Amino acid sequence: MKKGEASREDLVDEIVEPEQKRQFDWDTVLEKVKKDLYFPPSWLFSIKVAKTEGKLVALEARTHFQALWVKNHYLHLINETTRKLYGANSFEVTINADDEESSNQKKQKKNGKKIRQSWESRDLEEASFFNSANTFENFVVGQSNQFAHAASYAIAENPGMAYNPLFIHSGVGLGKTHLIHSIANHISRKYENRLNTFCISAEHFTNGVVQSIKTGSMDKFRNLYRFNCDVLLIDDIQFIAGKDSTQEEFFHTFNSLYTAKKQIVITSDKPPSVMKNFEERLKSRFEWGLTADIQTPEVETKMAIIEKKAEEEKIEIPVEVSSFLAQNVISNIRELEGSLNKLFAYSRMLNEEITLEMSKKLLRGLVKKETPKVITIELIQKETSAFFGMTVKDLKSNQKRKKVSEPRQIAMFLSRKYTSSSFPEIASRFGGKNHSTVVHAVKNVENKISKDLAVSNSVAAISAILEKFITS
Ligand code: ADP
Ligand code: MG
Repeated sequence: MKKGEASREDLVDEIVEPEQKRQFDWDTVLEKVKKDLYFPPSWLFSIKVAKTEGKLVALEARTHFQALWVKNHYLHLINETTRKLYGANSFEVTINADDEESSNQKKQKKNGKKIRQSWESRDLEEASFFNSANTFENFVVGQSNQFAHAASYAIAENPGMAYNPLFIHSGVGLGKTHLIHSIANHISRKYENRLNTFCISAEHFTNGVVQSIKTGSMDKFRNLYRFNCDVLLIDDIQFIAGKDSTQEEFFHTFNSLYTAKKQIVITSDKPPSVMKNFEERLKSRFEWGLTADIQTPEVETKMAIIEKKAEEEKIEIPVEVSSFLAQNVISNIRELEGSLNKLFAYSRMLNEEITLEMSKKLLRGLVKKETPKVITIELIQKETSAFFGMTVKDLKSNQKRKKVSEPRQIAMFLSRKYTSSSFPEIASRFGGKNHSTVVHAVKNVENKISKDLAVSNSVAAISAILEKFITS
């Protein structure tokens, strides 16, 4: 036989179909699957083949959770890899949960332990970490946040069915993070482990992109979202402003999840229309579903929040104190909590009941330190006219064109919201108008906020600018 010629045995080998010839080798499949996953959980390697019967391969996991997880997230990939290795009609891989573990799991659930504790991949756990302390139950609903709350709740009940995406925006410390963690907690409770919820910050997403570029593992990063994610909750999207590669990646992630009807919720410090350094195609997608804003809470909501927190801490707080706090801490709820915590700590330390006098003494320092600047009608007029690209003179004029009168009404509304000025006082500062004009303007804007997206977005954006001024 000449060199290079195939022997008879070799030729026979070639004619034989590969699936008839080769044995299923789980380690080889697993090795290939691992390469396609961004964060393969370490327990994946403890999965074994329980039985092979003809074409059927049954895998076995140590826990019911792991089996379910593989079934929901990796089985598709495992079978695809198997077909690539052994041919289209080769093997069909399945997985079943082990019964004993399954009853353990039930016990665990009964004891209220979190199923997620069985995850062993720290990275995956980090990507899906959500704060169990932030729930709908302890989120106080008031006029300022009721729309965002209702939309979030609808989504948590039926992910992917109600509004997609939901875009929540507000200034800092007003409850965006609290709301998306509430959605995550609700879904995890209602759907147990049938839906995989990723609750991540845009910063975490960015770090993932950077790491994947660095290590040449972009495919794994993409697979994390394609194979693993049923609900994507992404916090503080403004973080990716000006970051082109991350925006590009997020754009594709968004498209693939959206097409697969997976729920997406995004939070931001601004409405999409005024976001800077963002690709237009992303901004327009943010508006495909529903946009909801959270406003600065009114005194009543702040009082309700104070009372709820006091209840949680099992501390009595007199109404006059909650009313005093609600009226004096004006910027946001995080600061309100800060003041409240100081008050709680002080009262515990001295073992004294909280009184108005104690609060005034403590809060004096806080007010001085944290709100060195005040929002004045002049500032509101200046920022509102700058926002709409007009002069303060026009804003205060008597022009009736909508382009001028609407910004004027918004400025009047904000003057009422952020200053303690009376209607006649505001009227006089707007070129000496009648006080009923201001009453009408405030009512009109209040009405439009829940109906007119452009007005509610503008009010939210100018409020954010004003609030930045007092907290900077
Ligand atoms: P954001 O993400 O908008 O900056 P957070 O969600 O972090 O704000 O809220 C700041 C703090 O205020 C958190 O501790 C949160 O639990 C609390 N908080 C915000 N809104 C509410 C609310 N409606 N009811 C109860 N607590 C709230
Ligand atoms: Mg936040």
